[in-house]
Amino acid sequence: MVIYMVEKADYEKLGLMMGLEIHQQLNTSKKLFCPCECELTDKKPDYRVLRYLRPTQSELGKIDRAAFEESRRKLTFLYDTYSQHTCLVEADDEPPHPLNPEALEIGLIIASLLNMQVVDEFHTMRKQVIDGSNTGGFQRTGLVATNGYMDTPYGRVVIENLCLEEDAARRMGQRKGNMEFRLDRLGIPLLEITTDPSIKLPEQVREVAYQIGQVLRSTKVKRGLGTIRQDLNISIREGARVEIKGVQDLDSMPILVENEVKRQLNLLKIREELHNREAEIEGEIYDLSDLLRETESKIVSKALKKGGKVLAIKLIGFRGLIGKELQPNRRFGTELAGYAKKMGVAGIFHTDELPAYGITQEEVVKVNEFLGVSEEDAFIMVADESDKARNALEEVQHRAKIAMEGVPEETRKALEDANTEYLRPLPTASRMYVETDIPVQVISQEHLEHVKANLPELPEEKKGRIIEEYGLSEDLASQLVRQDKVDQFEKIVVECEVEPTTVASLLAYTLKELRREGLEVGNLTDNHILGTFQLLSAGKISKDAVSDILVGVLKEKSSPEETAKNLNLIMLSNEKVAEIIREIVSSHEKMIKERKMGAMGSLMGMAMKELKGKADGKLVNKFLKEEIQKYL
Ligand SMILES: [Zn+2]
Repeated sequence: MVIYMVEKADYEKLGLMMGLEIHQQLNTSKKLFCPCECELTDKKPDYRVLRYLRPTQSELGKIDRAAFEESRRKLTFLYDTYSQHTCLVEADDEPPHPLNPEALEIGLIIASLLNMQVVDEFHTMRKQVIDGSNTGGFQRTGLVATNGYMDTPYGRVVIENLCLEEDAARRMGQRKGNMEFRLDRLGIPLLEITTDPSIKLPEQVREVAYQIGQVLRSTKVKRGLGTIRQDLNISIREGARVEIKGVQDLDSMPILVENEVKRQLNLLKIREELHNREAEIEGEIYDLSDLLRETESKIVSKALKKGGKVLAIKLIGFRGLIGKELQPNRRFGTELAGYAKKMGVAGIFHTDELPAYGITQEEVVKVNEFLGVSEEDAFIMVADESDKARNALEEVQHRAKIAMEGVPEETRKALEDANTEYLRPLPTASRMYVETDIPVQVISQEHLEHVKANLPELPEEKKGRIIEEYGLSEDLASQLVRQDKVDQFEKIVVECEVEPTTVASLLAYTLKELRREGLEVGNLTDNHILGTFQLLSAGKISKDAVSDILVGVLKEKSSPEETAKNLNLIMLSNEKVAEIIREIVSSHEKMIKERKMGAMGSLMGMAMKELKGKADGKLVNKFLKEEIQKYL
């Protein structure tokens, strides 16, 4: 079957709607509600804290269903704590300290840059979180501003909310029945920015994400992998709302959108086909263990040897549809498997891919006969511990049933290839309670006026200004802004008397090239680069030598000046240059006599070979001309 293709003009017809939710860590000196530093660590923990989740009755005598379900999994939570990065607040053994004003200030700046209405009182709330990533069972969060906007070439997008909250603990995996977390990240201030679902085009969503990112970067936010997290809400009219978590790469965002639209359209086609075939899900779960006792399939025989079972379900009218591609390389079967895997099994076997995985054609025929499946029907098989296999198949039945209704509302995870995979059902509205340990923070009109009068320069403004002030090209200026190097550029230009374009192109292009060549450019400090330009400014090195010296600094771990000396890149005095040129010219007298000024090219080549990086080319040219004329 061919997968559904989407043309650009189709998006409007399909009723594509998108909203973004961006989480950005702030670069404050302290956490949001305690004095711990906001740095992550890979060190061994100083202490470990073990906790159980126990649901209790609310004031109304009720037990929260989600909390109860979670407690049934009987997980224990193991938290790594550090004397430097965590304190009793993160462990929930001490009340939170007052709100970090630095974090709120950054929130106010960003709210103002996004044209938002700031609240006059900041109320800290508790949002219920029961997956163990918050030791208190809730995340502290508060609304800073609402109702802003951002203009894009595709139209205006409303910025709905801006919240200041604490980041969650880092989930490190599951071991021996313990869910392990690191508390270093818990409590780092985080801004959550949500747009309304008015984004209509795949290109526009990238633009909005980019622009919000630029606004964030004009203030004190953390940089680098994992410090900003983008979630995308997306739906089409006939489909359903899906939340895609953890979109990393902005450039792949439009493809991600396109793939999700394809997935939903193809699920709708499957629904239509299932209706035509009068498809049905049989509730029964069959045991095929005896039937497949002698199989060559490693997965199946391994499960059986361990005392597990091979269980199967019948999907009436599903044959051929399970193998149908929804997105590039992802089939409807992948969706069914996604639900099964949440129950802890490694995967499923389905009709449309068999015989495979060591299961033979004869065995497929035997299973078909045993289950009584017809040519239009399919079966799904799972080999694992009995309980796990049964739970997994029930989930597959559940997912298959939804396929007959259409697209399910889901939370999905963004994958590196711009596809997505199933994570969990869409959460219902979160429960919020007032955090009684933190007093209300009044935001005065005066304070807000002060913030608004001192807003940082936005990236676009910055770009315009450096083009004007330093005569940079449009491209160089945007590169500096995008790579966040304007401050560094200006510092060098102010301190050194060098051509601004030379500095800008080193920062914007040369460093990138060096990185591509495999050098650890990240190890170059601002002072290494500044120091090199100071040498240039003082006339000690030539322009050509700058990048060679930086490479030398990286390789030899020495200062720019030492490197210049070691690499013999220190400029020669004018007298020395003149002397070298005199020598070259006098030893080629014959050539000059024959070719007159025509000898210039060859002699220049010889001179530069000797003087490259040690003398200015223009100067060499001038000396050479003068010297040749003496012989004519
Ligand atoms: Zn702390």
